Amino acid sequence: MTALVIVGHGTRSAEGVAQFAALVERVRTRAGGMVGDVEGGFIELSRPPLTDAVGALAGRGHRALVALPLVLTAAGHGKGDIPAALAREQQRHPGLSYAYGRPLGPHPLLHTALEERIDAALAGADRADTWVALIGRGSTDPDANAEVAKVARLLWEGRGYAGVEPGFISLAEPSVPAVLDRLRRLGARRIVVAPYFLFTGVLPDRIRAQSREYAAAHPGLDLRVADLIGDCDSLADLVLERHAEAVRGDIRMNCDTCAYRVSMPGFVDKVGRPQTPHDHPDDPVGGHSHPHPHPHQHQHQHQHSEPVLRPGAVAVVGGGPGPADLITVRGRALLAVADVVVVDRLAPQELLAGLRPGVQVVDAAKSPRGPSVGQDTINTALVRHARAGRRVVRLKGGDPYVFGRGHEEVLACAAAGIPVTVVPGVTSAVAAAALAGVPVTHRGTAHEFTVVSGHLPPGHPDSLVDWAALGRSRGTLVVLMGVETIGAVAAELIAHGRAPDTPALAVQDAGHAGQRSLPARLDEIAAVAARAGVCPPAVFVVGPVVAFAAEPVLATSGH
Ligand code: SAH
Repeated sequence: MTALVIVGHGTRSAEGVAQFAALVERVRTRAGGMVGDVEGGFIELSRPPLTDAVGALAGRGHRALVALPLVLTAAGHGKGDIPAALAREQQRHPGLSYAYGRPLGPHPLLHTALEERIDAALAGADRADTWVALIGRGSTDPDANAEVAKVARLLWEGRGYAGVEPGFISLAEPSVPAVLDRLRRLGARRIVVAPYFLFTGVLPDRIRAQSREYAAAHPGLDLRVADLIGDCDSLADLVLERHAEAVRGDIRMNCDTCAYRVSMPGFVDKVGRPQTPHDHPDDPVGGHSHPHPHPHQHQHQHQHSEPVLRPGAVAVVGGGPGPADLITVRGRALLAVADVVVVDRLAPQELLAGLRPGVQVVDAAKSPRGPSVGQDTINTALVRHARAGRRVVRLKGGDPYVFGRGHEEVLACAAAGIPVTVVPGVTSAVAAAALAGVPVTHRGTAHEFTVVSGHLPPGHPDSLVDWAALGRSRGTLVVLMGVETIGAVAAELIAHGRAPDTPALAVQDAGHAGQRSLPARLDEIAAVAARAGVCPPAVFVVGPVVAFAAEPVLATSGH
């Protein structure tokens, strides 16, 4: 039979810890024979730590657990921190598996418990002229805040209060004073502040303090604060219900409005990202964060087979240097759902063959009017396709931000109000050398590498490159777009101090079947490349690391 581990975040309040422990005990008692074993632990701040709780269960022979995050709403803790802590436990206990339970709320049992706490605060006063301010913890995750608003509405329905308005004690608006102001403007004379919190802690204390302060400033107002949900039978029964759901594999996360999945104004940077360590800037003890790496990505994201690219959004994706399998997993996943792919000449063309039938491929390299499509035309096309409700992937060669004008496209989308994300790629600036057997850095040989564009030769009035400094440097220099200019570049480097016999290498079509690389001294590389007919795309690598190419050690890459 599966065991249950109840996972709390942890609190600085001893009373809060005691309430958690009491609830764990109550769950144990009420479980009867339904649950194999029950333990509770915290991921930080309080004892016992989660690792002790899991250790106790594993010590008693349990290998299959239900892990239930003791949180009211799915936000950072439930989506990221707790799964991360559980992933570490799995590393500690090989063979351990767990089903992850859903957050507690919203649930009728909670709404009834809230109603009871509000009734107790009312002590017989009439509901019909009582307004309720339901105060949640507040999150940087809009979905979690929306859950609190939903609970406020559910609490209002059919219970006869004058109204219920949501507010937040941290990280979200309206604040406690702001929601109280709002209720007063609506004509409220009596307000019950109902904290949507399980147990005592710093934030519920703050709700009480702010309410008291507000009441003192508004003497005509009848302001009362309800108790927290606390350790009670309905909460224990809800825990058992969530356990049963997890055992059945019946977890329905609310994914429709999750900022990690759906792009929302102001939260575009969250889409498709792992949940990041968080920080509560207004925590009285200076904020707390989870500096440890998160081995487990946002749990909830894992439950989607479909990656994140909503209709009407654009993803600027780096395709890598050429071979179809040097794109990132994320880039590949976004391509698989794209409706339109706007593709560069240097982007991996093989990937286009694998697109879903009916996907529109727009070739940004060709134009009916000229040799190449202008950047404005590309930007306009991205915005136009997105506005038509399509999922747009802008597929580029290498990394979108390395001489790829990727950020111009991102800015153009953002300016048009189109949700846009960027997916980094493997840049030819590093990969072309690597595929030719040259590491751009190597201990004791080169401790720096510089990537420059050769499209403007040294001395060109528009050039932003300090060629003299590069001539003096001993590091690795990688020149992109330099087929035309490599002669002038080499001469300038030598004029500023690079030895004429510095090893140099031209790598053409890196990663492709026709990849070739030509080594030469710096003072001869231009002539060697010209004689061999080197043509774009090619990179030039200059510096002592190039000597490694002379002793090939790599197995052939399959190309
Ligand atoms: N964003 C791309 C670079 C765009 S600029 C990236 O990160 O790789 C275009 C230049 O990249 C070409 O002129 C060439 O210098 C280099 N390049 C791109 N793909 C290449 C390849 N497969 N082999 C060699 N050079 C390549």
